[in-house]
Amino acid sequence: MRRKLVAGNWKMNGSLAALAELDAIAAAAAAASGIDVAVAVPFTLIHPAAARVPGLAIGAEDVHEADSGAHTGCVSAAMVREAGAVFTIAGHSERRADQGETSHDAWAKAAAARRNGLSVILCCGETEAERDAGRAERVVQAQIEKSVPDHADGSWFTLAYEPRWAIGTGRTPTPDEIAAIHAIARAKLRHMIGDAADTVRILYGGSVVGDNAGAILSMEDVDGALVGGASLTAAKFVPIIEAAA
Ligand code: 13P
Repeated sequence: MRRKLVAGNWKMNGSLAALAELDAIAAAAAAASGIDVAVAVPFTLIHPAAARVPGLAIGAEDVHEADSGAHTGCVSAAMVREAGAVFTIAGHSERRADQGETSHDAWAKAAAARRNGLSVILCCGETEAERDAGRAERVVQAQIEKSVPDHADGSWFTLAYEPRWAIGTGRTPTPDEIAAIHAIARAKLRHMIGDAADTVRILYGGSVVGDNAGAILSMEDVDGALVGGASLTAAKFVPIIEAAA
């Protein structure tokens, strides 16, 4: 039985003052004892966030694939771990689009995170053009094939299906579309990592808000949500936590 995970992704948002939102989020997480709650924040906020709400899982938005070295402007998994992160996101579609990251990069980042004791939420998902061309399933399968490490299992690894056209747009796939992708993602994982696939949580992400969280999170094979905009305030994020609990 997989515990549901509701994870926030603050992206390039937040400030020291905004960390006050985490107080009520941590309280709601503590009350929702049957599920896991986590929040990924920008690098500069990891340490103050982890110090402010020690009971809440704080994560990084990204890590570099190397442990250290001459990589100006980058941050390693060991560094975010030392700052207090317990997980990182890898392969988010915004990094694929903005920084040109590939599925192979996401694989290397996931491996670096694991090597340094972090859990990983690895993202996959098709563009609107790929969906319109009837290629969504094949795109997601190929991303999983190239980005999931061989030794992945649910003790440290989570997959997030985030169709790019649903991120920040207020549009979500139909329940059938979500179910279809989650099923092919699970089958692909099983093909790659065997029975460990049954331990891996598969989250849905893309325009999850309080009003649609209950319906999405009650779907079979949706093991939680990765939430962007609606994770920035307790007023919007707590109802999603409560819908999952
Ligand atoms: P929104 O919830 O703002 O659509 O963002 C989803 C996302 O990209 C989470 O990683």
